[in-house]
Amino acid sequence: MSTPSKLIRGYEVVIGIETHAQLSTQSKIFSGSTTQFGAEPNTQASAVDLALPGTLPVMNRGAVERAIRFGLAVGAKVAPLSIFARKNYFYPDLPKGYQISQYETPVVQGGVVEFYVGDVKHKVNLTRAHLEEDAGKSLHADYVGQTGIDLNRAGTPLLEIVTEPEMRSGPEAVEYARTLHELVKWIDICDGNMQEGSFRCDVNVSVRKPGADFGTRREIKNLNSFKFMQQAIDFEVNYQIDLIEDGGTVQQATVLFNPDTGETLAMRTKEDAADYRYFPDPDLPPLVIADSWVQAVRAAMPELPRKMAERFQADYALPAYDATAMTQDKATAAYFETAAKASGQAKLVANWVMGEISRRLNAEGLALDASPVKAEVLAQLIVRINDGTIANNGAKQVFDTLWTEGGDVDAIIEAKGLKLMRDTGELDRILDEVLAANAKSVEEFRAGKEKAFNALIGQAMKATKGKADPAAVNALLKKKLAG
Ligand code: ADP
Ligand code: MG
Repeated sequence: MSTPSKLIRGYEVVIGIETHAQLSTQSKIFSGSTTQFGAEPNTQASAVDLALPGTLPVMNRGAVERAIRFGLAVGAKVAPLSIFARKNYFYPDLPKGYQISQYETPVVQGGVVEFYVGDVKHKVNLTRAHLEEDAGKSLHADYVGQTGIDLNRAGTPLLEIVTEPEMRSGPEAVEYARTLHELVKWIDICDGNMQEGSFRCDVNVSVRKPGADFGTRREIKNLNSFKFMQQAIDFEVNYQIDLIEDGGTVQQATVLFNPDTGETLAMRTKEDAADYRYFPDPDLPPLVIADSWVQAVRAAMPELPRKMAERFQADYALPAYDATAMTQDKATAAYFETAAKASGQAKLVANWVMGEISRRLNAEGLALDASPVKAEVLAQLIVRINDGTIANNGAKQVFDTLWTEGGDVDAIIEAKGLKLMRDTGELDRILDEVLAANAKSVEEFRAGKEKAFNALIGQAMKATKGKADPAAVNALLKKKLAG
């Protein structure tokens, strides 16, 4: 949406994403078997999950409630009545021969996801989100020359979230996916574990000349890393452009990304909806959601990241960009707000969280929850910067010690002798000495050589052993030279 697209080799990129978010229920979508990850193959599929004769699926209320939470979080319509349908296809990991999904009437209709790419705000409209069951899994790696089938995942509840084809670049697609990933975790409907497959994206990519109709798309299946998503889109876009430039046409296809080669490879030509022979599932009545239920779920919703970002802007005078960064996930929001309240210096807190703290966390592969420097301690450090006890470079040293050894902010400042000179009389005396000892620089400065001033500042900082507030040194030195 919105901003004009950046063209790649003269082509506009068009992207729509289908995301499978595994809903965090204890039991499966239509049976009581557990959804726990990592069990021995084929120990967690019940007769219902396999649709053995004589069994009937029963809707899991928790899965529906999570779908409602999602609908409310994106401002969508929660359908008062939606329909389960059978999607028929043959595949070894689907011995029952069909997947229960929703087709014409999904539970969540419409909705919007908002996010920033850099400091530009983007909005992506959702087409729908529907409930469905997962299939089993083929195991190729462990069985040379054979394929194993693990049906533990069969019947695991999924919410498939589908966007309109509105994204116009790889970074926009990745930022959408990141935002959605944070949102489903924030509202507690999905654990977001991408290694375990709890959040996977199918990315539909096409290219076109500006102003032309949509091109034919290829669908990159099952991306479970944002880095791979970016690489896969980059490869796919260039592949399609090459093909068109060479006089070929893009065929609709399903492709897989190979992280080892950085390439996408066609898996199969794409089925059309007609190939699935969708029809309403005769075993399941329509899903009816009373308005009172929606209202009850609404009342129990947490404050959403977008709302919280607006509140941070209003209550703490944070710039929009910072407010978005401080609400990127629940842990960051809680950390920011605790430190901002305790220090009274929200902007400084945001700077530290976006700067030093995220640098250290990234370097050590830690999440903010695991930061050795807790919010209350960062607040103490910020109070000491703000009241002029320490300078920025001193603060960095204190932070370093806090990070590696822990301890008390004031005690570390004391032990390291980082306290800035508060006594202006002493600074006055030292500066006079510096001026006397550097008569040549003083002369040069008075003769108009600006650089000489920096030399004097350097000497003054050296003489104060870095313990004077640089701003105070600067001001006092200027005053003395003018006098
Ligand atoms: P299916 O479910 O068969 O994959 P849909 O028509 O529901 O097909 O579309 C799936 C996804 O593909 C949606 O996210 C949609 O936005 C996206 N899409 C549709 N047409 C294009 C296109 N020409 N280029 C890129 N994405 C597209
Ligand atoms: Mg699809």
